[in-house]
Amino acid sequence: MSETLSLQDKVAVVTGASRGIGRAIALELAARGAAVVVNYHHSAEAARQVVEQITAAGGQAAAFQADVSDFDQAQALIKFAIQTFGKIHILVNNAGITRDKLIMMMREEDWDAVLNANLKSTFNCSKAAVRPMMRQRYGRIINIASVAGQMGNAGQTNYSASKAGQIGFTKALAREVASRNITVNAIAPGFVDTEILDSVPEDMLAAALQLVPLGRKGLPEEIAYAVAFLASDQAAYITGQVLGVDGGMAMM
Ligand code: NAP
Repeated sequence: MSETLSLQDKVAVVTGASRGIGRAIALELAARGAAVVVNYHHSAEAARQVVEQITAAGGQAAAFQADVSDFDQAQALIKFAIQTFGKIHILVNNAGITRDKLIMMMREEDWDAVLNANLKSTFNCSKAAVRPMMRQRYGRIINIASVAGQMGNAGQTNYSASKAGQIGFTKALAREVASRNITVNAIAPGFVDTEILDSVPEDMLAAALQLVPLGRKGLPEEIAYAVAFLASDQAAYITGQVLGVDGGMAMM
């Protein structure tokens, strides 16, 4: 653990932290000293294991079930963090889903589910967290977007729109809250080795990896390191940015 990127005495909420990238982010922030609220939707046992792993290593964590696409449940999540750990300094909007289909096949419910889980959740949780962050004149909001929101991806009009929306949201909110010492940034991962890729056919994935200069998928931990940096005091002069962690796939 780098001393210079310490998150000692910070409180973090990570949405969708039961599995995949969110899990890696929760573990990394906790390893750097933050108390972490591990949000989950369906995977209660997995979330419990993340909390157990953090506490076994001497850290502080608590799990909280909330469907963050629901406005009231998102408010309850942030309230829980403040009640449990006293404050909220870091919010990582990581929860996300895919419902990939060509637009000819995409149903209205596929569109709504993805926009709600990926983009509305980002609004819901950020709105709840901004007020306490403004009062304390400190905050770090990090939105996990995607390379699909920068480049577009056939079969993902819903997902790409939700991720492009997160990027616009990031820039607008960064301008709104900068005067209160709150930074808002996005990370745009490329292909990262998690269950979200399970629905992508092998041949499509192999073809897509040809577009990655570093020639491989990323690891969830490689996204988590970038989050830890943006969450740190050392990143105080970075706001409204989109950091690509994608093996060089989209050089914007
Ligand atoms: P994953 O392995 O499928 O995990 C998704 C996580 O999000 C789970 O913990 C899930 O919780 C949670 N979640 C989904 N909907 C939720 C909701 N409504 N409320 C609360 N939690 C919810 O996915 P991942 O690959 O780690 O993806 C994490 C983020 O990175 C997503 O935003 C995704 O779009 C983005 N991303 C991923 C990749 C990639 O290649 N993996 C690339 C670019 C961007 P439960 O299991 O408890 O339901």
